[in-house]
Amino acid sequence: MMNLSELAQEHSARERSAQERASQEQTLQDRSESGDTLTAEGERLLPLANMCAMTVDLEDYFQVSAFESFSDREQWQQFECRVEANTEKLLNLFEQHQIHATFFVLGWIAEHYPQLIKSIAKAGHEIASHGYDHQRVHHLSRQGFAADIRRSKALLEDTGGVAVQGYRAPSFSISERTPWAYDELANAGYRYSSSVYPVKHDHYGSPLLPRFAFLAHPDVLEVPISTLQLMGKNFPIGGGGYFRLYPETLMQWALRRFHRQAQQPYIFYIHPWELDPKQPRPFQLSKKTQFRHYLNLHKTEPRIARLLSKYPWRRMDELFLDKNEQG
Ligand SMILES: [Zn+2]
Repeated sequence: MMNLSELAQEHSARERSAQERASQEQTLQDRSESGDTLTAEGERLLPLANMCAMTVDLEDYFQVSAFESFSDREQWQQFECRVEANTEKLLNLFEQHQIHATFFVLGWIAEHYPQLIKSIAKAGHEIASHGYDHQRVHHLSRQGFAADIRRSKALLEDTGGVAVQGYRAPSFSISERTPWAYDELANAGYRYSSSVYPVKHDHYGSPLLPRFAFLAHPDVLEVPISTLQLMGKNFPIGGGGYFRLYPETLMQWALRRFHRQAQQPYIFYIHPWELDPKQPRPFQLSKKTQFRHYLNLHKTEPRIARLLSKYPWRRMDELFLDKNEQG
């Protein structure tokens, strides 16, 4: 098994072969549709290739990494809670569109709002872990990480009454800096992780790591957030601030192009606070952080609704784990 640095080196070779495959398939793809619907030919090639995974990072507005220096974990309980009402908006949208999603939930949220977790599980969504209190993996020791992922898994399983098999690192913080992370995830009983965003960003991202699902450990599959490769660079198209920044038509074009180029499931993520333009603004933030956090919040809900209506969304475990392994 390679470590993450070796994987990053291997990756450019793999990318080249993926690009060759993509160009070989170009003729077929050129004959396929140019609209929003998926191609029968694409589905025939690879059953999961045109699927999408809807994922929610379940945390409140004051728990994001960008606010970490303002928002002491000891004081989290003093902030106005918005996560229940905002998650309700997402649950309603998923119900309207008959979609089951994967919720990567903070253990802290499960501890403080157990009914919320129970209702998510009852509605048929997957419960996965986002760690206990949003500590980035490279800020923890190996032992600290092992304790964090065990604590959050146990809390979520006790609260939701379902097996927890997936993990997403806060701010996609598994990288070459944390070579022990996948061993610890396997030891703690996780089967997959979605903790890599292979883009360049000042707060997160590992642009040299693979763009598509890979076995990071014999027992743990890593499923990176989706990127689009253009002119040799990876562009983030899997959600977060970029989803609110890009014009909607550009996102739709990018998603179609991703499916044609990659022949892989598309992985998207969203936070409940992104549907809450009226959330409190208690911190003195830099202009850049303000822009990133508050941009176009009023547009998110209708945009998500349109995204849900256009594509076939699934839970992560449905797409990436064998049936008998699903919780
Ligand atoms: Zn998060």
